[in-house]
Amino acid sequence: MNIAVGKFGFPDHTCDRTMTALGLFLSGEVPLPRLMTSHRVPCDPIRWSTTAAAKYGGVLFYDISRLNSCGFQNLQCSAEQIEDLVEFAEKSMPGIKYDESKLIEDLEIDARAAQYMYETYELRKKVPCPISPQDVFHTNRVPSRYPHPEKMLEYYRMYRDELAERAAKGKGGVPEEKLRIAWLATGPYGRSTFDLLARKGVALPWFHIGAAAHTFGLARADYGDESVYGRKLTPLQELVVNWNTNTWADNNINKWVETLITACRDLKIDAVVDFLQIGCIVTKNVKRITAQRVWEELRIPTLDVEGRELVANEGAQAELNKKLEEFVDMCIAKKYGTSSAN
Ligand code: SF4
Repeated sequence: MNIAVGKFGFPDHTCDRTMTALGLFLSGEVPLPRLMTSHRVPCDPIRWSTTAAAKYGGVLFYDISRLNSCGFQNLQCSAEQIEDLVEFAEKSMPGIKYDESKLIEDLEIDARAAQYMYETYELRKKVPCPISPQDVFHTNRVPSRYPHPEKMLEYYRMYRDELAERAAKGKGGVPEEKLRIAWLATGPYGRSTFDLLARKGVALPWFHIGAAAHTFGLARADYGDESVYGRKLTPLQELVVNWNTNTWADNNINKWVETLITACRDLKIDAVVDFLQIGCIVTKNVKRITAQRVWEELRIPTLDVEGRELVANEGAQAELNKKLEEFVDMCIAKKYGTSSAN
């Protein structure tokens, strides 16, 4: 963040997720690829930070647009642009060659990982919830995005097995589960918030971000399943299916809220914490209506807080923990009909 803001003059009022990623590239610590690409998402800073990294790094850049819809036409439109990207890459970088059979192999590995994640979604429903609050914030990408997809697939399997074993033994992610919350948008910085949650017996079965639905196994978009779009998809269309399940306040707020409400129902959520990443316009714009819909449909309260994810600020952290503790105490007291939540 210091490099992006202090040295290159990028704004410090943008979220630290994008500024620190950009700073890493600008620092020279991360090897620059030969070509960078981004695709249109509701968050502009994500795309702009990639654009800036490519510009300052002097590497090739290719931007992919999208339609304002999540239907088949958007898949078609995105896949066509990826075809153009392939052509651009093959022309611009001698030696690069698209290999469709490798893509199909990767998609099959991704599909197996998705199956593990569907199973972990079922395990999240257990009381106590077997996942530790800190682990809930891990948002892994599909195996094909890593240099060794088969190793990542093995990680997904081990993750599922570990949770299944914990669930079978009745072991929760916090010592004594009293409350289950869904956390929105951004993870808090540092350990202190997680220590507080553990001490208070607060399980965190759900972290709600744009990719949550497919990353955590709520939305099924099975490879080769022709029922969703009523047709067989090409491998490149299959590659972008998850772009359609992203719920980052996409198109309208319904997908963001409805996925959250489904997760809250399925996972027996008692309360919501909406943690605004400072500078995140995408989630700021939908806060009020999200809290309102969650209350109207589920009668569960939302705590509205803000902070940084990757940059320490002790004062802000103490303030967050204080608000969180008060909120949690109130929810526990309400849930158990007591006046003391200790
Ligand atoms: S927290 Fe908001 S601004 Fe930052 S990357 Fe995510 S959506 Fe974009």
